[in-house]
Amino acid sequence: TSVPEIRIADGVSIPQLGFGVYQVPPETTEEAVTMALEVGYRHVDTAQMYGNEQGVGDALEASGLNRDELFVTSKLNNSFHRRDDALREAEKSVERLGGPMDLFLIHWPLPTIDVDYLETWKAMIEIRDAGLTRAIGVSNFQVPHLQRIIAETGVKPAVNQIEVHPYLTNETVRAYNAEQGIATEAWSPIAQGAVLDDPAIAAIAERLGKTTAQVTLRWHIQRHDIVFPKSVTRSRVEENFQLFDFELTDADIQAITALNKDHRTGPDPDTFDYVP
Ligand code: NAD
Repeated sequence: TSVPEIRIADGVSIPQLGFGVYQVPPETTEEAVTMALEVGYRHVDTAQMYGNEQGVGDALEASGLNRDELFVTSKLNNSFHRRDDALREAEKSVERLGGPMDLFLIHWPLPTIDVDYLETWKAMIEIRDAGLTRAIGVSNFQVPHLQRIIAETGVKPAVNQIEVHPYLTNETVRAYNAEQGIATEAWSPIAQGAVLDDPAIAAIAERLGKTTAQVTLRWHIQRHDIVFPKSVTRSRVEENFQLFDFELTDADIQAITALNKDHRTGPDPDTFDYVP
């Protein structure tokens, strides 16, 4: 049973399940990504901010896999929102990753800093048109941020990567994404482990003979979101890949969705203003 693909732009499809490398140390990233590729992952989610793009690029290169069988996403760092900085730094990502990106995102909107994210989105369009990435998107954009960039440029992001898990179902942004044909990517899909002891999820997992991580990731898959759980432990990396040999019922999905308590594990995109 293989990983489904989701079409995100003209001629661009993304594997719905990938491997996230947030907080993977640069010096062990090549090893971790190599392990994930051995397990069968073909989609890697990194960022300039994580400092480990070189390790990702080295693992892809060493794998011997064709680049067109692989999907790599990176994200523009918060310090590079000005047009010239964005173009220059996108080129550096391409160098570190060993070839054009499949997807490049604005990591955070930073709506309160002195650079307008509209300038950054226009730079992203240039970056795509220059062939540095096949598709462009955003991360942590709220509905008004999306409305503004679409109204001003007519160019819709291919994806919006936002925090989504059973304790933060983020329905308003997901619904707007869906209405606009923007794919939702769910970051921290297991809330960095916080949902794994939930009794309601545990009951479903027990009935199905699966782990709570698998049930939670399957919930995302059946809601059509894209996920890339992070682990550097091989047994968990394997576990998180085994999502396509079972199904949740509609009642299971509703029960998990009802766990929402609007609880963020990460910053609030409306106020986050961290610039390294
Ligand atoms: P996650 O929800 O994937 O949880 C990761 C944690 O859960 C790790 O501590 C890991 O040890 C543990 N874990 C993983 N699988 C497990 C399993 N099967 N059983 C028990 N424990 C398990 O959290 P994350 O790393 O924050 O998010 C995943 C990815 O999302 C990141 O690697 C990154 O690519 C992306 N992300 C993006 C943003 C953004 O702003 N765009 C923010 C955070 C994360």
